[in-house]
Parts: sequence; C-alpha cells; structure tokens
Amino acid sequence: MPLSSATATVAVIGGGPAGLMAAETLAAAGIPVDLFDAMPSVGRKFLLAGVGGMNITHAEGQTAFRQRYRERETGVGQWLDSFDSDALRAWIHGLGIDTFVGTSGRVFPTDMKAAPLLRAWLHRLRDQGVRIHTRNRWLGWDADGSLRLVTPEGERAIQPRACVLALGGGSWPRLGSDGAWQALLAERGVELRALEPANCGFEVAGWSDFLKERHAGAPIKPASLALPGLPPRQGEFVLTETGIEGSLVYALSAEIRGAIARDGQATLTMDLAPQRDLADLGRALARPRGSQSVASHLRRHAGIEGARAALLRELAPAEAFQDMARLAQACKALPLTVVRPRPLAEAISSAGGVPLEALDEGLMLKQLPGVFCAGEMLDWEAPTGGYLLTACFASGRAAGQGVLRWLEQR
Ligand SMILES: Cc1cc2nc3c(=O)[nH]c(=O)nc-3n(C[C@H](O)[C@H](O)[C@H](O)COP(=O)(O)OP(=O)(O)OC[C@H]3O[C@@H](n4cnc5c(N)ncnc54)[C@H](O)[C@@H]3O)c2cc1C
Repeated sequence: MPLSSATATVAVIGGGPAGLMAAETLAAAGIPVDLFDAMPSVGRKFLLAGVGGMNITHAEGQTAFRQRYRERETGVGQWLDSFDSDALRAWIHGLGIDTFVGTSGRVFPTDMKAAPLLRAWLHRLRDQGVRIHTRNRWLGWDADGSLRLVTPEGERAIQPRACVLALGGGSWPRLGSDGAWQALLAERGVELRALEPANCGFEVAGWSDFLKERHAGAPIKPASLALPGLPPRQGEFVLTETGIEGSLVYALSAEIRGAIARDGQATLTMDLAPQRDLADLGRALARPRGSQSVASHLRRHAGIEGARAALLRELAPAEAFQDMARLAQACKALPLTVVRPRPLAEAISSAGGVPLEALDEGLMLKQLPGVFCAGEMLDWEAPTGGYLLTACFASGRAAGQGVLRWLEQR
C-alpha cells in the first residue's frame, strides 16, 4: 500500500506478534492504524517459531507461569492480568485455530504450525482496517519529531498521534529483528540494557577433535545439569562443535550467563545417569569386569555409551577409568566448564533491551511521550515453553491499551 495514503493516526513499527497485537487492539477500538515493517513480509520470526512445532503458550497455573519471568514476574504479570495464557488460547480459537496441550503442559495449535494462524490473523487485521506497509524501515526521528521511514519510494516522514515500537530483540537478525533500534533510542536519551543472548548455547574452552568430529550434533539424554547453589535439572541437551545447546541448556541460560559475567566461566555439574543413585551405580560398576573393556563395562552396567561415554572420556580424569568407584562418581558428577554464550544472532531470544522502569503503566516511554514499546525489545526474559510468545502478545495488547488511554486523555 502506498505510504501517501497512510493517515497514521497511530503508527505501529514492527510486524511481529507484539506489533500485530498492538495494531489489533487499536483497530478494534476504531483507531486508524498503519503498521510498518522493514521486511518484505511480517511475522517472519513467528513463522520460524512454527517450523519445529509452534509452542504458543503453556497450560500451567498462573502463579508458576508468572514465575517464569524471573525478576520481571510482577512487570510481565501486569500485562498478563489483561491477557494471560487462557485469554491467548481463547483468542487463537477465535481465529478458527484449535489448540492442544502436550504432555509437558506446552500448548500448540492443533496442526503445530504458525502459518495458518498468521494468515487468518492478517486477514482479520486487514478487515479491521489495519494498513500494513512492508519494506518500510524506521530510521528514528526527524528534528521536528516526525518518524523517518525509508520506503521503496524513498525516505518519508510521518507524524502519527502516537506510535508503538515493537521491533523485536536481536536474535536471528536476518528475520528482521536486528536490534538497530538500540542506537535510535539511546540517541534520544533512553537508557537501555544491552541485548544479550537468552535461550542460547554455550561454548567450552575447546572439545577434542575426536569429540567434535564424532559426536557434534549428538543428543545427551537423559542427563541432568546443575549450577552451584541450584537444584539439578533433568532433560536433554546436544553436543555442538563448540560446546552445548538444547532445551536443558536453554532453561539454565540466564543463570549460566550470570555466572560467566561474574566469574568469567561457569562450571556445571553433569549427571550422566540421573535415574540411578550413586550407590546403585557404584554397585553395578563394581561387578567383575573380566577381560571386558571399560567401555563395554560402562555400556553393560551403566547404560552409558556413544556420545555420553565420549563425554565421560573427555571430562573425567584418566585415573577414574582405573577405579570403578571413582568412575561411578564421575558419571554422577562430571564437571563441565563453559566460557561464553554463543552469539546473540543464533539465540532463540534476547535478554536486555528497554528497561520496564523506563516505561509507564501503559508501556509509554517516560522520556518520549507518545512512544510506546512492546515485545521482545523490552527487558525481560523467559525460558522456551510458550512463555516468550505469550509475553509478546500480552505486551502488545498492553501497549495498544496504553495508547488508547493516552489518546483518550488528550
Ligand atoms: C528459532 C526460534 C524458535 C522460536 N520458537 C518459539 C516458540 O516455540 N515459542 C515461543 O514462545 N517463542 C518462540 N520463539 C521466540 C519468538 O518467536 C519471539 O520471542 C517473538 O517473535 C518476538 O516477537 P516480537 O513481536 O517482539 O518481535 P519479532 O517477532 O522479532 O518482530 C519484530 C519485527 O520488527 C521489524 N523491525 C525491526 N526493526 C525494524 C525497523 N527499524 N523498521 C521497521 N521494522 C523493523 C522486524 O522486521 C520484525 O518483523 C522462537 C524464536 C526463534 C528464533
């Protein structure tokens, strides 16, 4: 749609779940909305999230749900007060898409996909009058406070009554959320917390060539990982060329990142046989080995083989392989030191961004009246499990409602 026809009473910049939800909230209240996105189409990261099975929210109780947002439990909780996981599911059903709850409590659209949901949503948004302008990159503000946009027809300036920035975090920048907004907001005096990788892999100081060549990509399961002072978590992770990644690592990523920032590295304690206690494993490995190799003995009596056995070889002291009691201890408490997170561009999500303290209750920047923010660009983080998208939707709704209240007061 040509920009010349955009009245832009309210401009929403960024067409991910947060921006689209802000646009819908405004349009449903009869406010003309123009939505601008730098990419040739909207919702690219949302569509990617659907590739491995779109986990859109979680069915656990509201108290546990809110605790997933850690120190932002109260701030994110305020958005969830008006749009929680139940409301999100009802909203999805309203688009004609059914959901189901998986065994872990994770909620998925019945077909596990994002595309049908996005299609139905965009159709409804257009019916509500939302005008979507793709290939329109926001470049900041003019001297007179107008929003600068670079469009296929050249640079334009618009002066909406209010704008919602929903520009995403900094992961997977090729999908549009490149974090370039950080410089634009910093120029206007908004104090930001630098974007950091969340739900990300971590690097070790260096795997042996053998482990890299033979076992990169191998899942380690079952396993548990623990950080000092925290209870162990059970699940699975994956060996990579440079270190570790996968759901169990993502779940601990905030704590690991914190430990690295504090101490320069983080040492995790890995349990390669989490279903057995040390005494039981010790008894099993104490059986006579005869002419069997240690590897066969471990496979037969501890069920540890393949990548798990290679990891044990890599990390346990050589002497442990001469002493089965020590080997049992190593299987139950193998230290694994990681030194840095993988780059933000590879992460599932970002931590950092616009601090919630910089916003009023309607998610308007205190520093920039009329400018609202929503989604992953705000400083909160959560594990995977549908918590990311839920908070993006809920903050988009909250920002839309904030704009409505602000326009009403004026
Ligand atoms: C591989 C992967 C899998 C994921 N799976 C899940 C999952 O299963 N469940 C879950 O809850 N979450 C998942 N997520 C996270 C989830 O997709 C994001 O948290 C969510 O999309 C963030 O929404 P948002 O609206 O804040 O930002 P985004 O979706 O990133 O959208 C931001 C938009 O702003 C636009 N933009 C940025 N800068 C500009 C600019 N200057 N001018 C104009 N437009 C601009 C971008 O083009 C983009 O369209 C996954 C993420 C990844 C990478």
